[in-house]
Amino acid sequence: MSRAWQLYGAAGGVVIAVYYAVLHFAPGASLAQTVLYTSAGVGAMVCLSVAAARHRVVRAPMLLFAVSFLAAAWADIAFYSAALDGEPPYPGPPDVGYLLQYPLEATALLLLVRRRTPRRDSATLIDAAIVAAGAGFLTYVFIIAPTYVTSGGGLTRLVSLAYPLGDLAIAVVTARLLLGAGSRPFALRLIGVYMAIVIFADGTYLFQTLNGTYRAGNFLDAFWMGAAVCIGAAVLHPSVPKLAERAPAATPDADPARLAVLTLAATVAPLTTLGLYLRHADPQVPVASITCTAMFLLVIGRMAGLVRAQRHTAVTDELTGLRTRRAFQTALARTARPGARIGVLLIDIDHFKRVNDTLGHHGGDVVLAEVAGRLRALSRPGDLVARYGGEEFAVLLPGAGPDDLAAVAERFRAGVGGARIGLPDGGAITVTISIGGAGMVTTAHELMLSADRALYASKDAGRDRYTAADLVGAAGR
Ligand code: GH3
Ligand code: MG
Ligand code: MG
Repeated sequence: MSRAWQLYGAAGGVVIAVYYAVLHFAPGASLAQTVLYTSAGVGAMVCLSVAAARHRVVRAPMLLFAVSFLAAAWADIAFYSAALDGEPPYPGPPDVGYLLQYPLEATALLLLVRRRTPRRDSATLIDAAIVAAGAGFLTYVFIIAPTYVTSGGGLTRLVSLAYPLGDLAIAVVTARLLLGAGSRPFALRLIGVYMAIVIFADGTYLFQTLNGTYRAGNFLDAFWMGAAVCIGAAVLHPSVPKLAERAPAATPDADPARLAVLTLAATVAPLTTLGLYLRHADPQVPVASITCTAMFLLVIGRMAGLVRAQRHTAVTDELTGLRTRRAFQTALARTARPGARIGVLLIDIDHFKRVNDTLGHHGGDVVLAEVAGRLRALSRPGDLVARYGGEEFAVLLPGAGPDDLAAVAERFRAGVGGARIGLPDGGAITVTISIGGAGMVTTAHELMLSADRALYASKDAGRDRYTAADLVGAAGR
């Protein structure tokens, strides 16, 4: 069954070849031609229905695509039967079928996007908007504006404009799907190829129609038929269930391929305008200017997102999600002024080497992350919890006096040591922590030294306890 998609693709290629052979040997609209052309779309519809029945996770988008091909098949038949009798009316009934495809396919693609990234992904949204602005500019200049002028008025104009707008809409949704986070299984790539072929063929058709160079039965039929074969093969591929795999909505990396797409989209408006100006054609300055302004705003918005993500990464410890040592020190330096009331707790997990020895390093990491999560949950909103070293944590408590420190430390100690930590293999373990605390002394450096001495006093006294720095000093005196 895993070969079905290849067999289907090959059969589709044969049908396309036969279609052109019929056109060559029996020119003019014929029943054979209609049957061959429509069979590509009907084949896709059957494949999509099979995929919908087979894979529950993608049932809704597959069915929407199938209905879209049904609408197109009906429109093709209506169009060709009208052509057999002479000139088909425009706009006419087939246009309803053709235009229905846009909302159906856009919804199908959006459903896939929603399955893959259920959370908001503003970075990809901006990337898609950049592509939309570039594609929208080209569509406007070369198709929409001339169509508006030449299409007469009323319903004809409305229908004529609906086609390029529909293509633009599905191009943008496709960009959102392909630029979004998550795995890119082969089925997704083939669906991308399908969309690219459709958008290219539709765009070329509209362009040729405007210029009077379109001839029925030209190479574009191969693209439309090939597109149908492509999506039919795509949804027969074994990787279809992976289409719906959930992905975290992380800020996407600015990798070379993405940068190339964004650069192309962002430079389309100024370069086209320049080209038109050099050819003494109307350079559509107002539209170019609006597009460029929108582009700048989008690119700057995207940059701001990247900088924010970078900053977050720089101050966040990957394993525990706590602040890093550097972030802690920066905050401490900012808060620690002479006379300021400020407390610090230094926390070290007891006998952590044993934990690693029994559970392995990976199990140790799970314990570390859980202890960190408990410390964060037990801390007050204004306090800063950081991973200070391997299995050492530091907590900055602005405004805390000695009694507050002792109370918070006791809460931490009880919260970490008081409940077992569940492990991925089903087991559980209990760990304790030792804590040293210090209040503002003279400098941030002094403060940390005092807290460290207090922590080691806790260790010396038998672990699983809290020691305040002033008590260490008193004992030493
Ligand atoms: P003590 O009670 O005296 O603190 O004993 P201990 O075994 O916890 O000693 P220490 O605090 O010196 O141990 C640090 C250990 O923590 C050594 C190191 O292997 C482990 N460790 C440090 N960073 C990580 C980490 O990111 N992951 C894991 N799994 N282990 C770490
Ligand atoms: Mg330790
Ligand atoms: Mg340690």
